Amino acid sequence: MAQNVAFIGLGIMGTPMALNLVKAGFNVTAFNRTRSKLDPLEKAGARIAATPADAARDAEFIVTIVSDTAAMEDVVCGKCGVLETVRSGAILIDSSTISPTVSRKLACQLAGKGASMLDAPVTGSKHGAEKGELTFMIGGEQETLERAMPVLKVLGKKHIYCGQQGLGLAAKLAMNAILSTMVEIFSEGFVMATKAGVQPQTLLEIMQSSLARSGIVDFKAPFVFKGDFTPYFPLKLMHKDLELAMEAAYAQGVSMPATAAVKEVYGAAKAQGKGALDYVAVVTFLEGLAGVEVRA
Ligand code: NAP
Repeated sequence: MAQNVAFIGLGIMGTPMALNLVKAGFNVTAFNRTRSKLDPLEKAGARIAATPADAARDAEFIVTIVSDTAAMEDVVCGKCGVLETVRSGAILIDSSTISPTVSRKLACQLAGKGASMLDAPVTGSKHGAEKGELTFMIGGEQETLERAMPVLKVLGKKHIYCGQQGLGLAAKLAMNAILSTMVEIFSEGFVMATKAGVQPQTLLEIMQSSLARSGIVDFKAPFVFKGDFTPYFPLKLMHKDLELAMEAAYAQGVSMPATAAVKEVYGAAKAQGKGALDYVAVVTFLEGLAGVEVRA
């Protein structure tokens, strides 16, 4: 018999993920705070829930992918949250990028109801979500992960177990500190060379023929050269992840000086109203300071 999945958070990532679960034959009940974003799910045959509690009532699995820590706390512990109705034995798979400390706290609260939780943040962006080819970084009990695999297999092509609750998130925050810094330094270098008179395409060819070659530059450079900042991963969410990475670093007594500086650059771009654009729009902040545009 088809299993019941509650899906909460129908944003850029959540909508294609939930649609893939419907296509795979799960009974999906979807909840999103903004009702209009549920239309594609309703069309595909999902049941629409009025609240997270309503979505979770009959679910064997609950998948969440919401913006940030506060949103996740709302969805689980808020009024009409998951905790009000979650079934004993249910598994909550949280793919939001949130605080590892809060994730552990939520796992304890769910355990009080007999339910389990995995922190299962993802990488692969909107394309990976659409194709069911996300990479998951997973924290929690290994036995819970094994039980959750039928759902996770539909959503992703790679599932990397990181250890106890919160360690999937620790890995994800490290990843995004690296990724955001690469995009920021790519932007600095391209702005400097363009101002000097080097064609952006020429610098790209040099860079991608060298050991500095990078997958993220391959993917993002064409968007920068066209000035296309349609959000795949909104800049405000990358800034949120940098704040979470710094919080985690402070808590562990780890120094991340480059990440601290890069966080300020993304913060300044966000303050200029660029938060809803893709995070590669950080280049436009640096372009503004230099009075030049990196366009092919
Ligand atoms: P998004 O398009 O902005 O969607 C965010 C979702 O969270 C929306 O469904 C939103 O509901 C919901 N939400 C926000 N606050 C809420 C609240 N208080 N209560 C209930 N729902 C709330 O973001 P996204 O790009 O899909 O990202 C979602 C998560 O995945 C984030 O943690 C992000 O860091 C992570 N992530 C994103 C990517 C990417 O490439 N986009 C990749 C890896 C990981 P409304 O529709 O009502 O606003």
